[in-house]
Amino acid sequence: MKNDLQKVAELILNSESMIAFTGAGVSVESGIPPFRGPNGLWSKYDPKCLDLDFFYAEPEESWKAIKSIFYDFFGKAKYNKAHEILARWEEKGKLKSIVTQNIDNLHQEAGSKNIFEFHGNSQKLICAACEQVFLPKEIDLAKLPPLCPNDKSVLKPDFVFFGEGIPENAYRKSLLAAQSADVVLIIGTTGEVYPAASIPIEAKRNGATVVEINTEKSNYTDSITDFFLQGKASEILGELEEIIIVKV
Ligand code: NAD
Repeated sequence: MKNDLQKVAELILNSESMIAFTGAGVSVESGIPPFRGPNGLWSKYDPKCLDLDFFYAEPEESWKAIKSIFYDFFGKAKYNKAHEILARWEEKGKLKSIVTQNIDNLHQEAGSKNIFEFHGNSQKLICAACEQVFLPKEIDLAKLPPLCPNDKSVLKPDFVFFGEGIPENAYRKSLLAAQSADVVLIIGTTGEVYPAASIPIEAKRNGATVVEINTEKSNYTDSITDFFLQGKASEILGELEEIIIVKV
């Protein structure tokens, strides 16, 4: 592993178009649990609250769970060292972009700019009728479901529900970034959710070297991963950053 850290640090230093592909694991150290696993969100909530048909059929019931997960809870989380390091690498020109499956807005809050939100963003609310976007703080969430101030239609969190398509712009830009990447850092994702999971595979197909950071093996580890750095995102990125700073 020590050897691999050195090799990966060299790889990053020599890369010209590195991208990161992030998942729920990058936010675990901010206190946001992943969906799956014994302490995952689905052990506490029914996934049907994020089903598009259920949402429009039973908006009040759906919104009760949504408010508790994404606004009372996610809304208070703060970015961690892993988000900060990725933002710094972008600022220094070492990281071209982040393709994220996360919807918690923490990369943005840490200062990352070039982000493709594959599954949207929970910190925006959109009116299904007039399509105006609101910030959660602009809307009273005491009465559910929240309604659009313009036309009283139900407001929906602007992330991808089950049964909903991927935002076209984010999908296209993620694919383009993957096709031109020379290194892809896969951080904290199982690689189970498609089509997002195909982004690093596309990068590999186009010649990128694949580095994976995860506490556990994922679907990628024994298939496309070239370097598997096992551990918490903030610790591994911190170790890489230390080596890189010494060499610059
Ligand atoms: P997942 O829940 O399926 O898997 C999380 C992964 O992170 C696992 O591989 C786990 O081993 C790893 N992990 C856990 N702690 C880690 C740490 N400290 N450092 C590094 N890795 C760690 O998540 P997923 O694969 O991203 O996909 C699930 C879907 O859930 C995505 O579509 C995403 O939109 C959504 N989701 C988002 C959030 C968020 O926005 N923070 C949270 C939960 C789920």
